[in-house]
Amino acid sequence: MLKATTILAGTLAATLATSAAAEGEVNLYSSRHYDTDERLYSDFEEATGITINRIEGKADELIARMTAEGANSPADILLTVDTSRLARAKNAGVLQSIDSDVLETSVPGYLQDADNQWFGFSQRARIIFYDKADVANPPRTYLDLADPAYKGLVCIRSSSNTYNQTLLASIITHHGAEVAKDWAEGMVANMARAPQGGDTDQLRGIVSGECEISVANSYYFARSIRKEVKGLSADRDMIGWIFPSQDAEGAHMNLSGGGVAAHAPNRDNAVKFLEYLASEKAQQYFSAGNDEFPAVPGIGLAPSIAALGHFKPDDVNLSEVAKNIPEAQKIFDAVGWE
Ligand code: FE
Repeated sequence: MLKATTILAGTLAATLATSAAAEGEVNLYSSRHYDTDERLYSDFEEATGITINRIEGKADELIARMTAEGANSPADILLTVDTSRLARAKNAGVLQSIDSDVLETSVPGYLQDADNQWFGFSQRARIIFYDKADVANPPRTYLDLADPAYKGLVCIRSSSNTYNQTLLASIITHHGAEVAKDWAEGMVANMARAPQGGDTDQLRGIVSGECEISVANSYYFARSIRKEVKGLSADRDMIGWIFPSQDAEGAHMNLSGGGVAAHAPNRDNAVKFLEYLASEKAQQYFSAGNDEFPAVPGIGLAPSIAALGHFKPDDVNLSEVAKNIPEAQKIFDAVGWE
């Protein structure tokens, strides 16, 4: 910990010495809703003397607000979760391209926007969970989930959920729109109940017996290992998990990331903050504080997420997947996925 701070402070001190804008504040529009993120901001403030003002809201509201504020927007940075939202922010014109050797070299290319308008800082695997006692042959791939063998067994949230939108967009990317539509149709046929609740509720559904098989992001399950999650932690041992499609594209990875606002008043400090998010220390927070996978390779995992074991992640270019999100939405509507 101490080592990372020293390195960070040293690097930034050198930069700050020559920068007149060093004391400029950074206005952070964030839709990340995790308490542990506090530590991310306070450590940056301590190391750099740059104050972070956090403006929190839902992603789409923040994007709409930035659009309405236009050139007068005080926003320096937008932080949000999911590739689809990052793509939406880019398409709305509220982000700008930036040049950063630090981000370019530390964040893998497939986790960056092609025009450097957004960068991923942490990942989550969207995987399959199942009732170990009742499901002898769990689905091994995303396509398996739609197999008629699982009719009436599967719980997954609504099509308005961005995690599902990006998952379907990735299925379009790998298998084409026709296969994706058949899959979505099969999923609707296999649902144990009409989509309801968040990812944790899909896991609770296994505990309550309503669902035999569920789809959720890895960090919701890992959180129930790290701390008490009502309706889940006490009965967690009955749940098994599958990292899907290990003999093919690998497990679908959801992204959390951000970019510099189109009209950022403190652009230089905004870039510094994004570079800080890619530092070893910040990357460790994403894992230890919120059970996520660091985006930067070579960072150690928190025990809660390491407990899920090794797997092959899908390293498809998320900037490409984002292009299929409108098509995914059409498919959801066509098959009646609520
Ligand atoms: Fe989430």
